[in-house]
Amino acid sequence: MEICASVEDIRSVVAGYKRAGESVGLVTTMGALHEGHLTLMRRARADHDRVVATIFVNPTQFGEVADLAHYPSDDARDIDLLKGEGVDALFLPEVAVIYPPGDETIVETTELANKLHGKVRPGHFRGVATVVARLFNICLPDAAYFGEKDYQQLQVIRRMVRDLHFPLAIVGVPTVREPDGLAMSSRNVRLTEADRAAAVVLNRSLSEAERLVAGGTTVEALGDAIRAVIRSEPRATLRAVDIVAAETLTPVSGPVTGKIAIMLSAEFGSVLLIDQREIAP
Ligand code: AMP
Repeated sequence: MEICASVEDIRSVVAGYKRAGESVGLVTTMGALHEGHLTLMRRARADHDRVVATIFVNPTQFGEVADLAHYPSDDARDIDLLKGEGVDALFLPEVAVIYPPGDETIVETTELANKLHGKVRPGHFRGVATVVARLFNICLPDAAYFGEKDYQQLQVIRRMVRDLHFPLAIVGVPTVREPDGLAMSSRNVRLTEADRAAAVVLNRSLSEAERLVAGGTTVEALGDAIRAVIRSEPRATLRAVDIVAAETLTPVSGPVTGKIAIMLSAEFGSVLLIDQREIAP
């Protein structure tokens, strides 16, 4: 696996692939890799001749300095995992490579970025769009793979790619879960044992929602039921339950008639977790 720290190096590796007529799938990550990330690598591996991964803990998407400082990191372990998946090249830049001195350009999906989770974390999706646009321009992939777990992020990136005419495909990959249903996340390692056990309540509330939609329900009743399940867990501090039209993320109400997305966020101790499910009636 080629490991590149500079824009010039990763560009030249990718240019070599392109000259040989090979297609390139990209997976962007913040490291602390788990099965969720590796599933994205495998999807990219199945679809493309070459897989490029990036590890970059993007400072501009963290609201709180403490959250950034506590983000887990183990490059040596991550590199071994990527080699094990047959990833061809890893781009592992320093902050000043992505954000050169004097940097002043941002990318923002003005509507999508500032609602739902974007309200709880102001500036977060602007930071995501800005870094992903830069990584796309540096790595020039044919397709990029993103988890549905970060549902609003996926929609933000789809919109950005459409609006700015980036010449690549965006592929969404279903959420990979622990055996007990907790969505895999790099943040899970920061949970205490008790909070780790409690955090399954998110997936439990989504399964309950699925059951209610199958039997016919309203958005309002669904919201009440989800909140009741999560509030029954004393270790969970509920931050948001959003029930919206899938993809557009616009609010819905009344009987559930079309495909909806339920987006949850809750804190367990100091760890903010999110989960999501798309449900069609
Ligand atoms: P992150 O390192 O958290 O920025 O995540 C990098 C990519 O992996 C993003 O596209 C995430 O949506 C995706 N991802 C993270 N967790 C999961 C999961 N449990 N299942 C599927 N994809 C995931």
